[in-house]
Amino acid sequence: MLTFKAMGFSPNLLKAIEELGFLKPTPIQEEIIPLIFDTDSDITGLAQTGTGKTAAFGLPLIEQIDIHDKQTQVLILAPTRELCMQISKDFQNYSKYNDGLRVVPVYGGANIDTQIRALKKGAHIIAATPGRMLDLMKRKVAKIDQIQTLVLDEADEMLNMGFKDELDAIMEKSPGSKRTLLFSATMSKEVSRIAQKYLKDPVRITIGKQNSGAENIQHMYYQVHAQDRYLALKRIADINPNIYGIVFCRTRQETKDVADKLIKDAYNADALHGDLSQAQRDHVMKRFRERSLQMLVATDVAARGIDVQEISHVINYNLPDELEIYTHRSGRTGRADKSGIAISILNYREVSKVTQIEKMIGKRLQKLPLPSGEEICKKQLFNMIDRMENVEVDEAQIEPFMEAVNKKLSWLTKEQIIKRFVSLEFNRFLKYYRDAPDLNKKANSPVKVDAGRKDRKRKGSGKEDFQQIRSRRKPRGNYVRFFLNLGNKDGLIPKNVIGMINDNAQDRDINIGDIDIKDSFSFFEVEEKFAPVVHDAMRHGKFKGRKVKVELALENESKGKKKKAKGKKKR
Ligand code: AMP
Repeated sequence: MLTFKAMGFSPNLLKAIEELGFLKPTPIQEEIIPLIFDTDSDITGLAQTGTGKTAAFGLPLIEQIDIHDKQTQVLILAPTRELCMQISKDFQNYSKYNDGLRVVPVYGGANIDTQIRALKKGAHIIAATPGRMLDLMKRKVAKIDQIQTLVLDEADEMLNMGFKDELDAIMEKSPGSKRTLLFSATMSKEVSRIAQKYLKDPVRITIGKQNSGAENIQHMYYQVHAQDRYLALKRIADINPNIYGIVFCRTRQETKDVADKLIKDAYNADALHGDLSQAQRDHVMKRFRERSLQMLVATDVAARGIDVQEISHVINYNLPDELEIYTHRSGRTGRADKSGIAISILNYREVSKVTQIEKMIGKRLQKLPLPSGEEICKKQLFNMIDRMENVEVDEAQIEPFMEAVNKKLSWLTKEQIIKRFVSLEFNRFLKYYRDAPDLNKKANSPVKVDAGRKDRKRKGSGKEDFQQIRSRRKPRGNYVRFFLNLGNKDGLIPKNVIGMINDNAQDRDINIGDIDIKDSFSFFEVEEKFAPVVHDAMRHGKFKGRKVKVELALENESKGKKKKAKGKKKR
C-alpha cells in the first residue's frame, strides 16, 4: 500500500496531511497523485465527491507550485460558489505550512471589487465559477496565460448549469502547454465532447460507481402513498431523534414547503435553495455546520459542494429524475469511515426504480415498514431519559437554586416528578401518535387483487354476473371506481392497470385504490380528482392489441362523478 510519504510529498504537506487526519491515500488519490507527479498526461477522472478527489489533485498541485512566481499557475473551475469556497478552504488546509501560497476563490453573486482586490494581491491558484472567471479575465484582472494546470471539477454539473459557452471561451484562451484534469460524476455526451476537444490523449481513471463512504452506507426505503410522504418524513425524523441529515427535494417549491411544514411542526429544520439570497444561504449553512440545525431540506443544486462531515442520514423525499443523482445524494453521508444511512420515501411509481438503483450502486435497498406510533414514542422516551442521564450538571451553578426548587417540589413523590418532567417534552409525541394511521397498511392496500376471485373460482361459480359485480362494491371515500373491458382472459394483471394509469399520468402522482381483476373485465379505483384525466387518457389506449374501454362504475351512486368525467369526453 502506498503512503503519502512514499508518494514524495515534502515535510510541509506531510505535516498538514497528518493534521487533517488522512492516514492513507484513498483509491483515487493512489491513482491520481503518482500520475500528476510522474507524468505530463491529461487526466479524466470519473469520480464523485466523497472519494477524496479534491486532495487527489490538490495535494500534488500545491506541491508543484513555485511560490516565488507570483503568476497564477493553477486554475480550478467548479460549478457553484459553495464548491469554489470548499476547494479553496481545502487547499488552504493542505498548504497550511507552505507560507506565502495564495489560493483565491472567485464566484458569481458576490462583490466583484473584493475579488479583484484579492486577485491583485496575487493568486498562485484560483478556484472559480466559469461565468465570474470569464468576467475577471475580460477585465484583465485574472490572467491565465501562464497556468500550468487547469482543473475542471464536476464538469457535468458545470454543463448542466449552462456554463458551456464560458467553458469553451476559457479553454480557448488558456495556453496550449497546460495540463488539463477533468473530473465528472457522469460521462455525458457533452462532457465527452469537452474531453475530446480539449484534452490531449487523457489517461482515464474511474473510481468505482460509488463514493469512498459507500461501503459504510446502508440503503433503505419506505413505500407510501404520495400524499403521505410528509407524514413518513416526520416518522423518520421522530424515530431518529439525533438525526443530522439532508432531506433532498426535487424543486425549490417543494423544498420550501417541506421545510415550512417541518418548522411549523417544531422540527429543527430549514431550507436551502436557489431562491435564497447568498447571505441567507450562508446563514443556513453556518447553522447546519454548527449543528444548530438538525435537518437541512435542500435541492440537489443548492446542496452541491457542501462538504459537511458526519451527516447521519440522507433522505430522498422523492427520487431524483436522473437516477445517477441518487449516488451523489447518498454520498453526502458515510464519509471519512463513518457509517451513514440513505433513506428514500417512495410511492408506487418510484418503487419500480429500486432495481435500477440497486444495479447502479451494487447494493440492495432494504424495504422497511414505517415505524408505528408506539415504536416512535418508545424511542423518544428512551432518548429523553438518556439525555437526562447524561446531562452535565454544573453543581456549583445550580446549588444556590436547589433549596427553593426542592421546596417547590416537596409535595410531589419522586415518581410524580419523573413523570411530569418526561411529559413536558413527551406529550407532543403521545398526542400526535395517539390516533396516527398505520401508513404501511394504507400504502399496501392499493395493489391488493380482489381476494374473492380465487374463492369463487374454486367453488366453480362459473361466469360472473357483470351487472351484479359492477354494483356490488362502493369505492371508499374520495375514490371513484372505473370499469375496464379487460380481464384475466386478456392476460391483465394489476401491474398492467397501474402501468396504464401511470403511463398517462403526465407526471402527476395519481393515487390508485383497489384493483379487481375479473375473468373478462376489471374494476379499478382512482382518487376522484384524477378521474377525468385517467378517463380521458386511458380510453384511447390499447392492451395487447385490444382497444381499451373505461367507464365509470357504480352508475347509480356516481352520477355526478360520471358526468364530471364524461364531460371531458370529446365525441
Ligand atoms: P472530496 O471527495 O474531495 O469531497 O473529499 C471527501 C472527504 O474526504 C473530505 O472531507 C476530505 O477531507 C476527506 N478525505 C480526503 N482524503 C482523505 C484521506 N486520504 N483520508 C481520509 N479522509 C480523506
